[in-house]
Amino acid sequence: MSVLVVVEPEDLGDEGAGLSVVSQEVLTFARTLPGEDVDAVLVGLPCGGAPPEAVLAHCREQGVRTLHVTPEHRLERYAARAWARVVEGAAEAGGAAYLVAAGTARGNEVLAHVAAARGVPMPCNVVAVVQEEPLEVERQVVGGAVLERVALQAEGGLAIASVAGHAVAPEPAPSPGETRVEEVAVELTEADLAAQVVRVEAKEGGDTSALTGANVVVGAGRGVGGADQFDDVEALAARLGGAVGVSRVVTSLGWRPHHEQVGQTGSRIAPDLYLACGISGAIQHWAGCSSSKTIIAINTDGEAPMVTKARYAVIGDMHEVIPAVLEELS
Ligand SMILES: Cc1cc2nc3c(=O)[nH]c(=O)nc-3n(C[C@H](O)[C@H](O)[C@H](O)COP(=O)(O)OP(=O)(O)OC[C@H]3O[C@@H](n4cnc5c(N)ncnc54)[C@H](O)[C@@H]3O)c2cc1C
Repeated sequence: MSVLVVVEPEDLGDEGAGLSVVSQEVLTFARTLPGEDVDAVLVGLPCGGAPPEAVLAHCREQGVRTLHVTPEHRLERYAARAWARVVEGAAEAGGAAYLVAAGTARGNEVLAHVAAARGVPMPCNVVAVVQEEPLEVERQVVGGAVLERVALQAEGGLAIASVAGHAVAPEPAPSPGETRVEEVAVELTEADLAAQVVRVEAKEGGDTSALTGANVVVGAGRGVGGADQFDDVEALAARLGGAVGVSRVVTSLGWRPHHEQVGQTGSRIAPDLYLACGISGAIQHWAGCSSSKTIIAINTDGEAPMVTKARYAVIGDMHEVIPAVLEELS
């Protein structure tokens, strides 16, 4: 009995492609499921190309037994149903009882195709195993404001779930080992490829990676006061080597671009430090920042939800507090 993880690559610059952070998180989560081995499947590699060394290094670190890849050239482009066929093939080849993936757009879509083909349920946004026998997991609902406990049983031989981003910190396996690479052969039909990505265009100025990858995020909400009031927020983010994140009100008012938005309809972040300035802490915002290791709120209202949830809070005007912090740091 094994656990199969659908993993996704991420460009690591000079090192080539490695596994995305959320994929590494899911591999760590997979070891909490009751399988003896953890296998992985990676679809979409250039045809005939071996998995990049950084991908294999991450697999070895996470104790992956077998990495399944496919030589099928039509799968270099994303095609959810066809990718799901490969995932099913890998699950059968490895004798998987559990199938998990990060709750990304692709992870959820591919798993949903497998679940629909088998007619089994698929809990999304799982954060932890809470009971082993019978297996029960906890998952985020209502944008992370509520945790729901659900059974995860291998109905039809396979239990399927996606894992919420940043719910688990990636940890190396206690005994990392060699990872075998095996090819999965699939017979694809026209219907499998009916919906596929035909072109990818870079989005101008829309890159969220600076925000989601930052160790420090300085958040700003309506309390900042206007589009021209971000100088001290930007200066503090730069001084701390971090990124600026904002609430939806700020993007809706056109004060900052949407790719800086944190929350249910923005990015989910998990920095070491989140400084939430002039942000009330509505549940939709909390859904995106609650995984931060330490939260410090700066707010004029001592009763604001962000103040009551934060580890530390400064009650005061952010335009007085931030300059004072900057002066202290200079
Ligand atoms: C379907 C849906 C999805 C949503 N998705 C998101 C999302 O992804 N992200 C998100 O952020 N929101 C989201 N929202 C909106 C959310 O409900 C809140 O309206 C929003 O987060 C509030 O933004 P805010 O905290 O900046 O503004 P406000 O709620 O207006 O709070 C401003 C805060 O600033 C404080 N303040 C005022 N002046 C100062 C000052 N000078 N110094 C310090 N503090 C000051 C106030 O005390 C207050 O706490 C969503 C809503 C819906 C319905």
